[in-house]
Amino acid sequence: MSKKLAEIRSILEEHHAMISKAIPLIASENITSPAVDEACICDFSHRYAEGWPGSRVYAGCKYIDKIEVLCQDLMKEYFQCNFADVRPVSGVMANLVLYNAFTSRNNGKMCAMPIPKGGHISHAPFQASSGRLIYGTAGTVRGLEVKYLAFDEENMNIDPDGSIKIIREFKPELILFGASVFLFPHPVKELREVANEVGASIGYDGAHVAGLIGSGYFQDPLREGADALSLSCHKTLPGPQTGAVIADREDLIEDLKNAAFPALFSNHHLHNVAGLAVALTEMLEFGKDYHKNVIENAKAFAQALHERGFKVLCEHLGFTESHQVVVDIAEFGKTVGLGGDIERILEEANIIINRNLLPWDIREGRHYMNPGGLRLGTSEVTRLGMGKSEMGDIAEFFKKLIIDKQSPAKVKPEVAEFRKEFNEVKYCFQTPNKAYEYLKLF
Ligand SMILES: *Cc1c(COP(=O)(O)O)cnc(C)c1O
Repeated sequence: MSKKLAEIRSILEEHHAMISKAIPLIASENITSPAVDEACICDFSHRYAEGWPGSRVYAGCKYIDKIEVLCQDLMKEYFQCNFADVRPVSGVMANLVLYNAFTSRNNGKMCAMPIPKGGHISHAPFQASSGRLIYGTAGTVRGLEVKYLAFDEENMNIDPDGSIKIIREFKPELILFGASVFLFPHPVKELREVANEVGASIGYDGAHVAGLIGSGYFQDPLREGADALSLSCHKTLPGPQTGAVIADREDLIEDLKNAAFPALFSNHHLHNVAGLAVALTEMLEFGKDYHKNVIENAKAFAQALHERGFKVLCEHLGFTESHQVVVDIAEFGKTVGLGGDIERILEEANIIINRNLLPWDIREGRHYMNPGGLRLGTSEVTRLGMGKSEMGDIAEFFKKLIIDKQSPAKVKPEVAEFRKEFNEVKYCFQTPNKAYEYLKLF
């Protein structure tokens, strides 16, 4: 074997060994089932099929078309809507489809969640970096002028009254809801009227909460007044890394289709469409149970951290209505260091989280590389079969490492021992699966 090939295989093996002993708490991540993994390594990954099923630019698409139509139908069933485009290869790409469909080419205007308060980089007009202006996706690719919606820091949500004023004055073409820090449903209903008044469309970036919406536990944006949703399919919706656009209004369908292809990409990732179709069959069967537990675990985890002395945001609102928990760790700044440091300490014990800006961080002189917050998510640990009592165990690990300052090297074997019982993906059909055996043997 080539030396480099051996090296590649051995690095992958090390990653698998690490992640299988870890506690994965990154809110944007999840784990796919054996059946999804199998679909994702099928021959579709070698093929081209530009366009819409039935009107492709390539031959050989008979089965690809069948799967893509099936996947669209499953999406429509899961989200109860008329239209689903499963071609955008990521959530950002799905956002671009909305920008293309709902804003004009020059001087386009959008209102979205402020980035420092949980908005996504793909909503950004620009970002200053080492004195240079680096434009975010909305700014660079689409040239949008973006004005942020008003934000209520205490309730960690969009402030409807403040936002109505901004929208009246700015007159955007698109109002985009949705965020990366997303604890509570956004006020879509409350802003539909002002959107009509200024002639704006309403988009909803459901990248994080797609699964919660599909299973019926978050808000239902299409019924509350959103014209279209952009989704990632691999966060609370546990599919492969890909994106989608959904909508309910017949009159938007052609525009949304064209805004994706040929406007934004040529081929899409056909194997991931197959994987997404499988994931949707799982969520139609097990999603109610799974996502109920994801949210219950998030609440239990928040409570358990709170009881151990952590400052979890929004206690007055029951901490969270989603898969996320946000913790303010600024008070540990003097002893342990801020977000960056705590992230490293946890990682050394094999607890994988990410640091996050809190709404007031920049005002208080903190930086996105070393912010005052942690954003934690329960999607993956729930999929691995953990329940409320395990949320208490994980909170205890946090206490040992951050409050009691035990050494990560001492806690790491305890984490591995704890994880031993949770090495199977739940909430899916049990299928014999060669791909999975291969991955496990790898
Ligand atoms: C994660 C995220 C995205 C981007 O998703 P990708 O699939 O990684 O491109 C878009 N919007 C929000 C709010 C997100 O959190």
